Amino acid sequence: MTNPAPETPERPSDFIRDIVAADVEAGRYETVVTRFPPEPNGHLHIGHAKSIALNYGIAREFGGRFHLRFDDTNPEKEEQEYIDAIQEDVRWLGADWGDDLFYASDYFEQFYEWAVHLIENGLAYVDELSADEIREYRGTLTEPGRPGPYRDRSVEENLDLFGRMRAGEFPNGGPVLRAKIDMASPNINMRDPILYRIVHASHPRTGDEWCIYPTYDFAHGQGDAIEGITHSICTLEFENHRPLYDWLIEHLPVPSVPHQYEFARLNLTWTVLSKRFLLRLVEEGRVRGWDDPRMPTIAGLRRRGYPAEGIRDFAAAIGVSKADSTVELARLEFHVRQVLNRDAQRRMAVLDPLKVVITNYPEDGVDELDAINNPEDESAGTRSVPFGRELWIERSDFMEDPPRKFFRLAPGREVRLRYAYFITCNEVVKDEAGEIVELRCSYDPETRGGDAPDGRRPKATLHWVSAQHAVPAEVRIYESLFTRPDPGADGDLLDDLNPDSEQIVPVCYLEPAAAETAVGETVQFERLGYFCVDPDSEPGAPVFDRTVTLKDTWARLQKQAAKR
Ligand code: ATP
Ligand code: MG
Repeated sequence: MTNPAPETPERPSDFIRDIVAADVEAGRYETVVTRFPPEPNGHLHIGHAKSIALNYGIAREFGGRFHLRFDDTNPEKEEQEYIDAIQEDVRWLGADWGDDLFYASDYFEQFYEWAVHLIENGLAYVDELSADEIREYRGTLTEPGRPGPYRDRSVEENLDLFGRMRAGEFPNGGPVLRAKIDMASPNINMRDPILYRIVHASHPRTGDEWCIYPTYDFAHGQGDAIEGITHSICTLEFENHRPLYDWLIEHLPVPSVPHQYEFARLNLTWTVLSKRFLLRLVEEGRVRGWDDPRMPTIAGLRRRGYPAEGIRDFAAAIGVSKADSTVELARLEFHVRQVLNRDAQRRMAVLDPLKVVITNYPEDGVDELDAINNPEDESAGTRSVPFGRELWIERSDFMEDPPRKFFRLAPGREVRLRYAYFITCNEVVKDEAGEIVELRCSYDPETRGGDAPDGRRPKATLHWVSAQHAVPAEVRIYESLFTRPDPGADGDLLDDLNPDSEQIVPVCYLEPAAAETAVGETVQFERLGYFCVDPDSEPGAPVFDRTVTLKDTWARLQKQAAKR
């Protein structure tokens, strides 16, 4: 799909966009075409979101096209489930590939023909060295490689062997096809890289049609050329593959000449962005699955309640560069909080309930109070919250013997209940073990709605839920999956897993409107944080995941930095 060029081309600036802009200016391309090329061997993570934002952003800003291409060249690790999940995630992030959905596997026949073309031109050969021998002949960073004994086979012999590789005559680990470039090149990737290997495995799309599969290096650039990709943008680890990318494009009769550009991948504190490691967490049952709310996967962040817009804002804010760096997780949370603060409805919920009895309130009296749904958005309106003689408040909002700076409820003290009344604590009821089980309070009927006619103002406003109307819910409190900001820095990543990353509070109390929140929707529980309804919810038994706290650590960090 071609995106209409924006009328006022307002675009972020970075070194890649500068290159694209210069190419457009010079008229080098009719249409800018970018792609996101995931391998369907796992779910996407927040690092991929950075790449998607960049590739899709450029296509949109320059009125070009954005392709989604599955790099499905390794059937042993790839699954249809991942193909489906990746599409869902890319779409959810807001990147629209229109009709431009492609698969490297659709090009297998063309790739094969091009491999034959290289053989015919003396630029590729079938090697029968073992993997260990290939490594040995390849040399090291400091020593050049040496040509192996099969390097100078005749074209005929190579064609015959390559045909037999395709026909299935050899087992896994049998001969490989290698480009014939330069065994002494200072760049190891140019020392006769492998182009095809034998893999007897069923492919999610081509089934058992093939038993030889192209390597990433052989498939990638040629896929780009077939699709007319103009700017093939990838992460820095591919920088020293670029000479090979260019070599293949130069020596093959490809229909277009794409160029590769590299940027620094996203690294985040408290987080591991490696599909292989995330897969391990899933396989070992250390998380609830790929979409566990603690996972940095797009599916996990979505389940946790992160809005796609917050992730996009984050990607835009961190920008793109060629210098490796690690971004504070708090920065991601900052953007998530900004969107949720603007959009999320407010509700009241009590996570650690303490009973309050209003002794001067009628036994079966009920009051319906008006509460504002979102102070940031007038159009969100109001709702009614039931009030009664028995209420739940947060246990931490009461202290029997408060220190000087504790302004919330205490014996003899008056506080405001949000949207309701002022109450004063008159009596503390304890059980045999001395634990506080109930507070007996009185309310001032004159303060309905939260203001006193005489203008007196309590120092604290507490959230609460009417006991008679409360809906019980399970709440899952999430912390970082790791115990340190740089997981794995001192050894095994698994040793740094946080055993308390998920804490389940089995019974919390919600006001009735909170219980009506749809699965996947995020609300703010007043004074507590943002919470999203988990798909594990059952009718009448909601489960909420804590998305993020209200406290803004990123803003605090910035303030501290500014002071320094
Ligand atoms: P991982 O490193 O998590 O195992 P990968 O690189 O193997 O992922 P691919 O499916 O090959 O995963 O990635 C698709 C695209 O996403 C590639 O172009 C890759 O450069 C980019 N990408 C992967 N990780 C990051 C990251 N952390 N930051 C930015 N881009 C990334
Ligand atoms: Mg990769």
